[in-house]
Amino acid sequence: MKTAPLSSSSNIRNETAARTCTPESTIDASVARATDVGAGREALNILLWTSAECAAGQAAAAAALIDTRNNALMLGVPYVAKDNIATLELPTTCGSRVLEGYVSPYEATVIRKLRDAGGMLVGKTNMDEFAMGSSTEHSAYGPTKNPLAPDRVPGGSSGGSAAAVAAGITPIALGSETGGSVRQPASFCGVVGVKPTYGRVSRFGLVAYASSLDHVGVFGTHVDDAARALRVIAGHDPYDSTCANLPVPDYQSARESDVRGMVIGRPREYFPDSLDDRIRARCDAALDHLRVLGAEVRDVSLPHTSMAIPVYYIVAPAEASSNLARFDGVRYGLRMEGDGLKGMYEATRSQGFGAEVTRRVLLGTYVLSAGYYDAYYRKAQQVRTLIASDFRRVFAGGVDVLFTPTAPTTAFKLGAISDPYEMYMSDIFTVTANLAGIPAMSQPIGRIDGLPVGGQFMAAHFDEMKMFSAAYALERALGAEAQT
Ligand code: GLN
Repeated sequence: MKTAPLSSSSNIRNETAARTCTPESTIDASVARATDVGAGREALNILLWTSAECAAGQAAAAAALIDTRNNALMLGVPYVAKDNIATLELPTTCGSRVLEGYVSPYEATVIRKLRDAGGMLVGKTNMDEFAMGSSTEHSAYGPTKNPLAPDRVPGGSSGGSAAAVAAGITPIALGSETGGSVRQPASFCGVVGVKPTYGRVSRFGLVAYASSLDHVGVFGTHVDDAARALRVIAGHDPYDSTCANLPVPDYQSARESDVRGMVIGRPREYFPDSLDDRIRARCDAALDHLRVLGAEVRDVSLPHTSMAIPVYYIVAPAEASSNLARFDGVRYGLRMEGDGLKGMYEATRSQGFGAEVTRRVLLGTYVLSAGYYDAYYRKAQQVRTLIASDFRRVFAGGVDVLFTPTAPTTAFKLGAISDPYEMYMSDIFTVTANLAGIPAMSQPIGRIDGLPVGGQFMAAHFDEMKMFSAAYALERALGAEAQT
């Protein structure tokens, strides 16, 4: 490689403020790195949309802040965003044919906040179509490859964003989470991925998949990059009625705290007998580090965990079937002519959506239909409440954070999983946090045969600070062990 991975967000920000680097030179370094690692369509297929005008505009906007707001948190820091987050400068296609060429007339609140803080959007990243998937193989624009092992998937559905950070193109990326789509690819790519509390970050401008489960999440090379990004994008937004009006803590200050006296729950349902012994060993080694630092590790139980996947795959498709009704050939993107209005709808939707999206729409329509609503959808919502109450009980009982594996496997080979149900099992340890709305994050805790393993922290609603405190401490304790 001719280029080096980009530096941390804190180095770039500080150097930009000190004028030892410029926003233009940082953008150039990011673009050169992307070229060098093969981020384009023909190679790793990480970046779907980029443009020289966009890059120049972003750099100019950041440069204008150097004199006026030298302390801006993202000053001159480049980032990429998943292709389901609306941006003015580049297309927003959700990895789907149905939105090919679509450019949003408005931008997501998270994009605006990053720009206001001096951040620079470098490109839009590949994803499973409409964020449905766990491998980034189900994009209409072809699969993304894992930069650490190009014969393997980066995880998904935010695989392009995770891969961009892992490849050193940007130190920060935006993704989205409905059931694990930030944490699972973070785990597969050896980076940090955070899903905040539901309501912590505005969803305005995030294309809806399943609204009661959707979140904007962040990736970072290290915990600090993710903490910085979350700090910038969090907070109240009048454009999203589910966004909480609560003050945003300085997540980066969690760096100063330690885990002495912290109670870390180890839920037994996340360490089943069937768990890969090497993943279990990595998690237990991480817990040992936390114990040495003065934390108490406590065995706990979340008894409704086994129902999370079935519940998720009723609730998520049900909401998706409703949300995706808007892609009808009239309002957005693709339009295929057919016999009359109905024929046009049918032609557009059957040619615009891929197989997995079609499967979810069919499933969701079925579970919401008269006669099945009570048996499936209502029942799933009831069990969802039980899953959330498991967490509430454990946190109320004095547990500060939970620690688990992020995913049951490391990155698998491209094409290795063709059975949709087997793919759904990738999210077994992550969907629970979305169903309950609690914050959760993944960070690298070691490797198996050269492939990264992620460890997950979960915390009570709006308790991101505790989660970050534990994550910073574990990252420090692991040091180089996290990537070996
Ligand atoms: N893999 C899960 C799904 O396919 C989760 C996706 C996500 O979090 N967006 O629905």
